[in-house]
Amino acid sequence: MRVLVVGGGGREHAIVEALRRSRAELYAAMANQNPGIRRAARDVLLGDVSSVERIAEWAKARGVELAVIGPEAPLAAGIVDGLEAAGIPCVGPNRDAARLETNKEFTRELMRDHGIPGLPQYWAFDHLGAFEEFVDDSDFEFVIKPLGLTAGKGVKVWGDHFASKSQALAYGREILEKNIGGIARFLVEEKLVGEEFSLQAFCDGTRLVPMPLAQDHKRAYEGDKGPNTGGMGSYSDADGRLPFVTEEDHGRALETMTKTVEAMAARGTPFKGILYGGFMATKDGPKLLEYNVRFADPESMNVLPILEDDFLDICVRLSEGRLPGSARFARMATVCKYIVPAGYGTHPKAGELIKVDEESIRRAGAKLYYASVDEKAGHLYTTTSRALAVVGVAANLGDAESLSEEALAFVSGSYYARRDIGKPVSVQAKVERMRAIRAGR
Ligand code: AMP
Repeated sequence: MRVLVVGGGGREHAIVEALRRSRAELYAAMANQNPGIRRAARDVLLGDVSSVERIAEWAKARGVELAVIGPEAPLAAGIVDGLEAAGIPCVGPNRDAARLETNKEFTRELMRDHGIPGLPQYWAFDHLGAFEEFVDDSDFEFVIKPLGLTAGKGVKVWGDHFASKSQALAYGREILEKNIGGIARFLVEEKLVGEEFSLQAFCDGTRLVPMPLAQDHKRAYEGDKGPNTGGMGSYSDADGRLPFVTEEDHGRALETMTKTVEAMAARGTPFKGILYGGFMATKDGPKLLEYNVRFADPESMNVLPILEDDFLDICVRLSEGRLPGSARFARMATVCKYIVPAGYGTHPKAGELIKVDEESIRRAGAKLYYASVDEKAGHLYTTTSRALAVVGVAANLGDAESLSEEALAFVSGSYYARRDIGKPVSVQAKVERMRAIRAGR
C-alpha cells in the first residue's frame, strides 16, 4: 500500500519505521531532508509541509492511498480536508477537529460544557484592563498561555518563568501587543502542582484505543531546569504505566479523553487521528494540560517501537472508522534521549559536525531516529532544532536507560543531551515528589 508520511522529525521517522515493518510503500513530504526517512521513501517532496494543495497534487499523482500526518502545522492548515477532498484517506483530524490542539479555549469550553473531568480553573483575556483587574485581585499562582500555536514555548508558569504580578502583567501585555501565537487573546489557568504524563491514543471518530503512558522532559537542562523546549526525551515503563501514576489516575485520564472524543462526535466534529493528552497528576487526580492532535515528539518514539500489532492495519482501520477494541504493545520499557545542538533552548549552535555510528547503535540493540540535520557531502551537521534521538528498549527501565547511554556513546561531535532522563535516581525522585504532593506535604 502506498502511504504518505507528512513531516520530517524524529516522530515521523518513528512513524515511517513502524509503517516499514508493515511493508508499506512510503512517500514523504518534509521541510528538511531527514536521512532516515529519505532512505526509506520511494519519493520525497521537499518544502513547506503546510502547502496543502501542492502536497495533495503530488500525492495524487503518485497514487498514494493513505496519509499519516505527523506535525500540527499542516493539520491546522487543513491538510486532511485537502487530502480527503482529493480522495486520500488520512490518519489525522480535519481542521475542525484539530481545534482540540489549535485552540486551547475551544478545548476548555468543550470540557466545561460536557462536564468532562480533569478541567483546571481557567480564564480568558483579550483586554489588558480586565487582566489587570484579575491580577490585582488574585491571591494564587497561575499560568499564562497564548491561544495560538507556539510549539510549546509560549506558556509561562508562575515561579518558573515569572515571579511577580508585574511580570505577569508584562507578559499579558506582550501577548496582546505582539499577537504571540497569532491571536491577541490568552488563557490564564490555576497553576497545577504535580508530575506530568502523556497518554496517546488511536481514535476513529467514536472509539479510543490507548497506547502506553510516557513522560516527556520539556525543560532544556538536567533536573528539569531551564527553558521549555519541544521535548528533550521521554521514558515509559514496561507495564505501560509510569511509577508515579496510580491505576486510578490512569483510568481517570483515559476517561477524560474518552469523554472528549464522545463530545466531539456529539457536536458533529468527530475526532479521527492520534489524540495526545498531556496531563498533570495532582493530589486531586489528573488534570488535562493540553491536547495534541497527533503523536507527540518524543513520546511517539516510546510507543511505536513496541507496538506488536500491524501499524498499517491500525492506520487503515482508523481512517475507515473501524478500530479494534485494543492494540497490543510489548511489555518493554523505553528511554528516549534527544541529541540537540549545543545551546539548544536559548542559542542553538547550527553547523556543528556530528558523527553517528549507525551500525554500532543497531548492534547494541538501540533505536535511532533522525530529526533535523543538514547533510552535506556525506556528513551530518546540526541545525537549530533537535538533531536525532536514541531509544533504549528493554525489559525494565534501568536496562532501557543503560542502553540509551550505550547508544549515545556512538554519537560524537559537539552536541547536548539530557543524560538524567529515565535514570533510576531521577525516576525515584519523581515518585517521591509525587508521594509528598499526594500526602499534602
Ligand atoms: P501546554 O502547551 O499547555 O502543555 O503547556 C506547556 C507546559 O507548561 C506544560 O507541559 C506544563 O509544564 C506547563 N503548564 C501548562 N499549564 C499548566 C498549569 N495549569 N499548571 C502548571 N503548569 C502548566
